[in-house]
Amino acid sequence: MGTTVFERRRPAQSVIDQSLSDTAFGVFWLDDVARPKHPSLTGSVRADLAIVGGGYAGLWTAVRAKERDPERRVVLLEASRIAWAASGRNGGFCEASLTHGHENGLTRWPEEIDRLEELGLENLDGIEQTIERYGMQADFERTGQLAVAVEPHQVEWYRDEEGFLDREAVQAEVHSDTFLAGAWEKDACALVHPAKLGMELARVAVELGVEIYEHSLVRRVEGDGSSAITLVTEHGKVTADAVALATNVFPSLLKRNRLMTVPVYDYVLMTEPLSDEQLASIGWSNRQGLADSANQFHYYRLTADNRILFGGYDAVYHYGGKVRPEYEDRMESHRKLASHFFTTFPQLEGLHFTHRWAGAIDSSSRFCAFFGTARKGRVAYATGFTGLGVGAARFAADVMLDKLAGERTERTELQMVREKPIPFPPEPAASIGVNLVRAAMNQADHNEGKRNLFLKTLDAVGMGFDS
Ligand SMILES: Cc1cc2nc3c(=O)[nH]c(=O)nc-3n(C[C@H](O)[C@H](O)[C@H](O)COP(=O)(O)OP(=O)(O)OC[C@H]3O[C@@H](n4cnc5c(N)ncnc54)[C@H](O)[C@@H]3O)c2cc1C
Repeated sequence: MGTTVFERRRPAQSVIDQSLSDTAFGVFWLDDVARPKHPSLTGSVRADLAIVGGGYAGLWTAVRAKERDPERRVVLLEASRIAWAASGRNGGFCEASLTHGHENGLTRWPEEIDRLEELGLENLDGIEQTIERYGMQADFERTGQLAVAVEPHQVEWYRDEEGFLDREAVQAEVHSDTFLAGAWEKDACALVHPAKLGMELARVAVELGVEIYEHSLVRRVEGDGSSAITLVTEHGKVTADAVALATNVFPSLLKRNRLMTVPVYDYVLMTEPLSDEQLASIGWSNRQGLADSANQFHYYRLTADNRILFGGYDAVYHYGGKVRPEYEDRMESHRKLASHFFTTFPQLEGLHFTHRWAGAIDSSSRFCAFFGTARKGRVAYATGFTGLGVGAARFAADVMLDKLAGERTERTELQMVREKPIPFPPEPAASIGVNLVRAAMNQADHNEGKRNLFLKTLDAVGMGFDS
């Protein structure tokens, strides 16, 4: 097996130790935003539409529902706080892709991929217009995404791509001598401050008349759909003609979806703000979102105050498939990220990380969201974004609203929307399978990206793993 650049060029142990010596375990984005409180639900409420989940998918559903019909009574129930979960702790790459990248979409829906990509761009434009229309302060920057090759065999992957940059050109953009080539896709990705986007969506929803309840975990969905559906919380209930479930990686309120996603933990570091000299030493004046190219990859970006967020690489599945706060504290993964950071930017040695955190990714076997209805069409759901839901959540909201309205739209007729992914097997097969895939991907990254027989078999049955 070969070695990766991150193994060949490890920084000194003392550099890593020093950079992490004073790092808080907590989400930078949530520390960096005002979090208005919403009441918790008590008593009985009647609504036209009830939404479960206060992340992007639920919040976009609320906003889009009111935009479609301002008279509709819309209630949103959140188990904890608005945007505390994936929506408040992600990398903030707001991508146009609805299919977790071109390759995944092309393989699964070759006849639809062109239209899916147009719809994805329209969706991203729609996000930008919404932000402008309501004056949302979400640090939205449409700077595009720069994918970089850091191993010689990866250079060929980019040579024919639009926006190809050779070694000299890519290093002129961002000064890392690990970059051997790249491709800058300028229009299809924006960067946002994730938690600000969540808070601003909630603000707009409330201004449009949506009633938001926090600390209101929905325990049950009652009713078979022949009449209104009731959502039961500890101290109250909401009865609604239609219900949208936007609960992401958390246990589905519908039994049929329990094996459709598994939580995979993703780890993130945030640096202190860079000084002008430090910033000058890395260039990056076009402020693109960056991602390197192996199966196990890093994503990194600048914040408004010129910190660097550096995340990804390890993707950890825990036996049993539970979402648990203790899984977020994994020093081994954070140390690895710090090491890879200084391999990428050795000129920043001495920089400190102020925050480290993790989050659960709602992985589905097709790597992008799937959609459906239950209870005679009165309940709709969207989940399984697999780490690319910041932009796609708005599209998912529209799909849910189309379905709940009983409308056949271009969106609902897409094969991508009509098809469901293959469920994951129950334990112990799930963890054996996920860990075999991880090992095979790691092996491929050490073997010029070549996929072994196991990964090729998964590809063949439509469960192939791609970054
Ligand atoms: C570390 C990390 C980095 C990521 N980076 C990116 C990125 O850069 N770009 C990108 O596109 N995607 C990224 N993602 C994925 C992206 O954040 C998610 O796909 C997206 O936020 C999903 O939004 P959501 O509303 O579906 O889920 P969530 O934000 O998880 O919201 C679901 C909400 O439902 C609530 N809930 C669940 N069950 C109940 C219940 N029974 N009753 C009431 N409330 C309930 C939860 O409390 C939660 O608040 C990342 C994810 C992580 C974890």
